Amino acid sequence: FSANDYLRQHIRTVPDWPAPGVQFRDITPLLQNPKVFRVMIDAFVHRYMDDGMRPDVVAGLDARGFILGAVLAYELNVGFVPIRKKGKLPFTTVEETYELEYGSATVELHSDAVRPGDKVLLVDDLIATGGTMMAGKKLLEKLGAQVMEGAAIVDLPELGGSERLRAAGLPLFTLVAFD
Ligand code: IMP
Repeated sequence: FSANDYLRQHIRTVPDWPAPGVQFRDITPLLQNPKVFRVMIDAFVHRYMDDGMRPDVVAGLDARGFILGAVLAYELNVGFVPIRKKGKLPFTTVEETYELEYGSATVELHSDAVRPGDKVLLVDDLIATGGTMMAGKKLLEKLGAQVMEGAAIVDLPELGGSERLRAAGLPLFTLVAFD
């Protein structure tokens, strides 16, 4: 009975949300239970606390990536920077537009969020098509940072996102996979 199986049991599947035919993987029960929340955070802390794996900065993707990313950054004693949906960040930004199933989305990052050469850990709750994480990687690279790894609680491998991200040179660390 592994930590990953324990975490899997606390992810709720909501059928037909936000659209018919979609099985939404809901991580809120995992945050709600203090013991499960701690097991989840610790799984990431244990990977990234060692000298060779410790990032200079954690970047979190809007919005559930902020929850995991901010706690992880605090535990690792490094800074946290948010990658936000367009129109939310007040200072000068770099931006990246990517395709969704219907239409497109744009994400932004403050232009002083990272420095050239910074080793960045990019965090979200879930990887589906990989488009969101790919856009985050490109933003960080526009500022000259090196994205050392992408981390997420859930991977949906059937959608091919994690494979595409790895093929694009981004190592990934995820806790639970749903087919
Ligand atoms: P992608 O860009 O297709 O990889 O989608 C990942 C993004 O959409 C992440 O920011 C997730 O928070 C969100 N997302 C997509 N599907 C789900 C899901 O089933 N549960 C929770 N978040 C999801």
